[in-house]
Amino acid sequence: MLCDAGIREYMCRLCNYKGVTQSDLNRHTKSQIHLMKARNECVQCSEGFVSPMNLEQHRQDKHPTSNSTAAAAVHVPVVSSNAEVF
Ligand SMILES: [Zn+2]
Ligand SMILES: [Zn+2]
Repeated sequence: MLCDAGIREYMCRLCNYKGVTQSDLNRHTKSQIHLMKARNECVQCSEGFVSPMNLEQHRQDKHPTSNSTAAAAVHVPVVSSNAEVF
């Protein structure tokens, strides 16, 4: 049986990853995850994300007003269909 008091968390210093064992953390730190996160870094709060989609999600979630240019690109124009109802 597992004893809760005996469980230690191995936290990554570079991100908020928590491993259950030392080898978990070793595998994490040796992976490409930090390089990927560096590539997808939020300009507002410098938090890193593993994919551009995660970054976009974060920006919409945390900084919804500051990415108006990105929002404008996504904006779908409303097609006017009320032409001459006669
Ligand atoms: Zn990490
Ligand atoms: Zn951010």
